[in-house]
Amino acid sequence: MSRPTTEATLPFEVALASYDPVLGLEVHVELGTQTKMFCGCAAVFGGEPNAQVCPVCLGLPGALPVVNEKAVESAIRIGLALDCRIASWCRFARKNYFYPDMPKNFQTSQYDEPIAFGGHLDVELEDGSTYRVEIERAHMEEDTGKSSHVGGATGRIHGATHSLVDYNRAGIPLIEIVTKPMTGAGERAPEIARAYVATLRDLLKALGVSDVKMEQGSMRCDVNLSLMPKGSTTFGTRTETKNVNSLRSVERAVRYEIGRQAAILAAGGTIIQETRHWHEDTGVTTSGREKSDADDYRYFPEPDLVPVAPSAEYVEALRATLPEPPAARRRRLQAQWGYSDLEMRDVVNAALVDLIEQTVGAGASAAGARKWWSGEIARRANDAGSDVPTLAASIGVGPAEVVELESLVTGGRLNDSMARAVWEGVLAGEGTPTVVADARGLQLVQDSGALEAAVDRVIEANPEVAQKIRDGKAQAAGALIGQVMKELKGQADAAAARELILAKLA
Ligand code: ADP
Ligand code: MG
Ligand code: ZN
Repeated sequence: MSRPTTEATLPFEVALASYDPVLGLEVHVELGTQTKMFCGCAAVFGGEPNAQVCPVCLGLPGALPVVNEKAVESAIRIGLALDCRIASWCRFARKNYFYPDMPKNFQTSQYDEPIAFGGHLDVELEDGSTYRVEIERAHMEEDTGKSSHVGGATGRIHGATHSLVDYNRAGIPLIEIVTKPMTGAGERAPEIARAYVATLRDLLKALGVSDVKMEQGSMRCDVNLSLMPKGSTTFGTRTETKNVNSLRSVERAVRYEIGRQAAILAAGGTIIQETRHWHEDTGVTTSGREKSDADDYRYFPEPDLVPVAPSAEYVEALRATLPEPPAARRRRLQAQWGYSDLEMRDVVNAALVDLIEQTVGAGASAAGARKWWSGEIARRANDAGSDVPTLAASIGVGPAEVVELESLVTGGRLNDSMARAVWEGVLAGEGTPTVVADARGLQLVQDSGALEAAVDRVIEANPEVAQKIRDGKAQAAGALIGQVMKELKGQADAAAARELILAKLA
């Protein structure tokens, strides 16, 4: 196993001048059910190793599986949301192979009878265009256990002294969603791959079937890619890059494989059909195991489980539970909030849609909700490698704080820069906006006498500016407002100061 870890690549543009990429994505999603696919063991993440196991998910002789109804329900809802047809009758199949993290020596999956098939998902791209991804099938299966290789430097099996297996994950319900080969993507292939996974993630989240956390492995993507010479319609040999676990990595892995395969083909070589590993740190893929289409898993129908035969009424009842599709929801909210395309895109990319919706629902203006959730707190979340909703939850600020802050401004107690200072205090855990404003003594000068006196002093000290304003140059008032602010230590109402200055110099 001493294959080179870096291989020659052609620059992306050069590769695309000669070859058309063909892309196929397989996405595995762990369902958020209470219990496992075929037994009553808890399906929650992060338990003590091998504490969530039983004879069924350990594959002990004689143990009999029973299908998790909730998982079937989720599978059908996912299929419907992808515009798939739902099988009126289908079976599970045994996929036979040995691996230490798979105690039964077969994975219970579906083979030629998937629960859902023949759908599509429309994906919006940066340039505003839409690419339709055809869905081959979505099928039910179970996850395997998790191996840890100990004693080596890398955590990989190579160089390890021993390995540990945790079977808590064995038997967790999975849905595998497989696309048809995507053609015609050209230079957009990396972007389409990323956008597809992002769109699918949003859809699954809206369905409430999974927490779809790529970094925790509850959503994983295998990237299949091949090249064909420009003008050809015969697919080339594909590679399958396994377990790519972030949106950015999906995009990078596609880009890298295009360059790598093009370099081989351009030099007259052939692509080996194999699985590959993605390396986040170096941004390359390396060879895994060779895999032919004829790999024989001796699939056969699972004899211990009854077929799944959802009635048409049941399927229609589930169709009625589908949420508004995320893209339609975004368009509706954008119109409702009056955001520009750019503003909406920033809000979506920062995962702020739900939070803003709740904040507006609690009484804030759409502009205010966007402003407070995308300023200082977004910077902090970014620094912490987190996102705003997670950070906000951890410091205990939510829609109510934004509503309160905004009302302090509209009620005339705070001006904008004071509100910013108050928000910083709130984010630092100093209390609610009112508590912070009180503690810091922040309060616009309400006493009109004090404001007037400051205006008079400033006019007297700046006779030339005052003359300009008398001569009709109202924009010169800005300089005087700044001075009034200074006099009153930032606690003046700028609009009131301006009005007063103009009135006095009319
Ligand atoms: P496997 O069992 O090898 O994982 P699947 O049928 O589950 O096979 O998934 C194969 C994926 O690869 C699908 O998304 C399919 O569209 C895609 N695919 C098949 N042939 C090619 C090819 N020549 N180039 C790129 N992608 C391909
Ligand atoms: Mg597959
Ligand atoms: Zn179990």
